[in-house]
Amino acid sequence: MSSIFTKIINGEIPCYKIAEDENFFAFLDINPNAKGHTLCVPKKEIDKLFDLEDDLYIGLMQFSKKIAAALEKTIPCDRIGMTVIGLEVPHAHVHLIPLNEMGEMTFRHKVSLTKEEFETLVKNIQANL
Ligand code: AMP
Repeated sequence: MSSIFTKIINGEIPCYKIAEDENFFAFLDINPNAKGHTLCVPKKEIDKLFDLEDDLYIGLMQFSKKIAAALEKTIPCDRIGMTVIGLEVPHAHVHLIPLNEMGEMTFRHKVSLTKEEFETLVKNIQANL
């Protein structure tokens, strides 16, 4: 069965999409630690980050770097934090989290956003890509 992220990439499940290219896809995390929390995902469904072939692994980092630059321009924050977990969704992904305090890197720190706030974030981040 396809992962929930493959379904998002294929347009079977809606998401707040930020960007995509031939191999990668970025969208807002639906349960964000902080405003602008974004997931960068390889389109190829592989569970664990370190199982990606080198080209895909490096490509994911390059793609994430571009998204992180747009996030940093858009969201008032000290820096963009990056983490990889994968305990919930077995499809490799990088979390990019605009940070002002260490607590935002813990997945118990959550912010709640309206649909309109998610949509505005998408527009503003895309304008800075
Ligand atoms: P983890 O696999 O532990 O790295 O966490 C998976 C992340 O995916 C969590 O932060 C979830 O909030 C996020 N997530 C799960 N389903 C969706 C979805 N449909 N759209 C956006 N983000 C999601």
